[in-house]
Amino acid sequence: MLASINDQSKSNGNLLHARVIKLFSLVGASITGVMCLLSLLGNNNTLTLILLVACSTYLIALFSLKKFNIKVSAIIIIYSLYLLMFYLVFSGGVAQTGPLWIFIVAPVSVYVLGFRLGLINLAIFLCIVCIIMFLPQHLVAHEAYTPEFKLRLILSFLTMTFLSALYEYSSMQFYRNVLELSAKYQQLAMSDPLTKLANRRNASAVLQQEKARIDRNHEPLSVLLCDLDHFKSVNDKYGHNAGDMVLMELAKVFTDNVRHQDCVARWGGEEFLVILPQTSAEQAGIIAEKILLSVQNHTTHFLKHQIQVTISIGISQLTEDETIDELINNADKCLYQAKTLGRNRVHP
Ligand code: GH3
Ligand code: MG
Ligand code: MG
Repeated sequence: MLASINDQSKSNGNLLHARVIKLFSLVGASITGVMCLLSLLGNNNTLTLILLVACSTYLIALFSLKKFNIKVSAIIIIYSLYLLMFYLVFSGGVAQTGPLWIFIVAPVSVYVLGFRLGLINLAIFLCIVCIIMFLPQHLVAHEAYTPEFKLRLILSFLTMTFLSALYEYSSMQFYRNVLELSAKYQQLAMSDPLTKLANRRNASAVLQQEKARIDRNHEPLSVLLCDLDHFKSVNDKYGHNAGDMVLMELAKVFTDNVRHQDCVARWGGEEFLVILPQTSAEQAGIIAEKILLSVQNHTTHFLKHQIQVTISIGISQLTEDETIDELINNADKCLYQAKTLGRNRVHP
């Protein structure tokens, strides 16, 4: 149950990530599209061509997000952005303003690639930018920047990287805490605080799930409704704390006697429900006798007292077209029979 909650949270996270990547692609395509038109008007043919390629790449990323998956789009967005930035630093763009655009690389990288991979990619990106800017002019003819400009560009880029990484790290921690908290509260909402067994709500959900499965594969399902005999007198004689301890220990006796796929729930005050998938009433009878005997042989030690209790069990197997409520009602009727016939017994 808990795993499915976590899965759901993860898929919500992926959905959000996909939406942001879609937005990045759209914004990237729009900005490069506008810049492409501006450089066309400015008769800068090389820049126009490169911006046209970049704009088309962002549109491809947007398209691949629908067709393929988030990772492909993320890779297209990031590395096409890097290539465009290398070109702008190399060429200087319009009136040496090209390098100004590299600041958007930091937040986009850590968001799209995640904290660790984003930082690694940013370190490599900055190294390549430095190589481009510091390459001797006589080796490659690139735009020449003053040493003051280069130093400030690098320092401000590092500051931007630090701030983006910090933001990404704290939102990552926040997201993790929210996931943990929601898992914890879901667990609390589904379990009984005293015995730590599944509570009634959880058991009802399990029964509904099992019913849906049975409707498909027509396998048997049985339940055992167990009620402690004369439990009120245990409370009256030894006190409520002793009664609580008996309930806690019996919860363990129940779970020790069933298989991993079975579910033991605290159905009410001193009533337990055992859900037995792929089990006929006949097989359930054998398990019920085993539980009955184990409870009878169990002693709860409380202060100086040794407390022994017995239980009565009603068995019911789900028949076709029967609802869960009817299944429980039948088990309850059998339990009532077990009580009237003298308690400490199983009634099929
Ligand atoms: P019967 O054999 O007919 O079931 O008799 P009973 O005394 O068990 O039945 P009854 O319904 O009269 O009393 C149930 C008792 O269970 C009353 C209540 O005090 C006790 N009980 C229910 N929940 C708890 C609990 O959480 N802790 C403790 N200590 N007692 C509980
Ligand atoms: Mg009862
Ligand atoms: Mg009782």
